Amino acid sequence: MKKIIAIASLTTLVLAGCAVPQQQILRSVPANPSPVETIEETAAPVDVAENYSSTSAKPLRLIEETIAREEAIALGEDASAPATTATSRPTSQAESKPTNSANEWLAACKSYTPGNSAGSPQVYTTIINDVCANTKLDYSLVKVVAGPTVDRAKLQQYVDSTVFVMSYWQSRTGLTLKPLTIVGFSEFDTDFWKKEVGSRVNVDIEYPGLSTAGGHCGYGDNIADAFCPKNYPSPVTKDGNIVLSLLLGSDVVINRFRHLVPAHEAVHMFQDSVGQSHYTVWYVEGQASLFEMALQRLFYGSTNRIEVLERARTDKNDFNPKNVQDVMAHLRECRVSGSDPCRGFRNGPGSAIHEKIIIDFGIDSYMKLMTVILEQKPLNSEEWMEGLLFRGFEATYSTEWWDWLETSAAPYLVKLYN
Ligand SMILES: [Zn+2]
Repeated sequence: MKKIIAIASLTTLVLAGCAVPQQQILRSVPANPSPVETIEETAAPVDVAENYSSTSAKPLRLIEETIAREEAIALGEDASAPATTATSRPTSQAESKPTNSANEWLAACKSYTPGNSAGSPQVYTTIINDVCANTKLDYSLVKVVAGPTVDRAKLQQYVDSTVFVMSYWQSRTGLTLKPLTIVGFSEFDTDFWKKEVGSRVNVDIEYPGLSTAGGHCGYGDNIADAFCPKNYPSPVTKDGNIVLSLLLGSDVVINRFRHLVPAHEAVHMFQDSVGQSHYTVWYVEGQASLFEMALQRLFYGSTNRIEVLERARTDKNDFNPKNVQDVMAHLRECRVSGSDPCRGFRNGPGSAIHEKIIIDFGIDSYMKLMTVILEQKPLNSEEWMEGLLFRGFEATYSTEWWDWLETSAAPYLVKLYN
């Protein structure tokens, strides 16, 4: 058995295979601390068809899983990319302000200097400062169930990132997030995975793989290299909380992309927790991508923002806007598209629209928007939940959503792309 690294801050770590009776494992899962809102649509943790159209008032099924599976590609997962360890932080930054903090993101905050902002606008500094000023770590948000052979240090790193991001959104919005259970395992822990994930969800589980719906999987020919987070959102879990199945192959290398996956996925945990995961797809993905890229700049001193923006140019519904009308057409066409036609649009232009909200109105009101959205009431039982976003936006900013898109966000995108 591999050496188990002592993790003082991880109070809920359950070491399966060690002397922890099953009863104790079960008791370690706390009761649901009154979720803010329950997502109404039925979610499937496997590949689901995007069986609603742009004319449908309400999506029939969640498309998060399709998105999750595809976004590894969309965001640039590349198995052939040179691997760098997640702790390969620029030496100059690490040496400038050493810290004893156990959570590497807090350490990054302490040593962060804005420096050259090439490649990302000033609003990234606004976000980074906000994240660093407002995050109160709450490790009770994440429970960890660790397989007998999973690499504890790599698992802990994933947990730390997730806790950091979920804590930020909880601290900043004042909303109560649902706890997340991370089941971490290696390729040698198949029985463990089957038992621990299977007992927590209401759907059939599928082992991670390249050609299955097992999650964002990134590896070459050898499953020992696998990195496969797979989210089971609250509608499909037995306790209504969120479960993450996380395969960390015994030889997995946590490169920069993989290091940032939890920074992105934990924003989706926030969205799922409070019932905001069923809005306009580019809104949902853009939010996760923007905050992921801000953390990328915080940790690494740069972002791949330009590259992420550029990918929209090669979508099937390619985004090469010449004017506001071109942008508006995409904003409407890509509202419900979780896959090919708008794959790059949702991450790149989607994130730029969130940038523009913060640029125009400030980050304080942006965070207030998250709660105002939830105070809105559906117009009728058939209304798609994005209607809450539209009305919440109007209530917060006294500006109609589509008017603002046309007069502010669309010109911003035209400028970015020309
Ligand atoms: Zn995403």
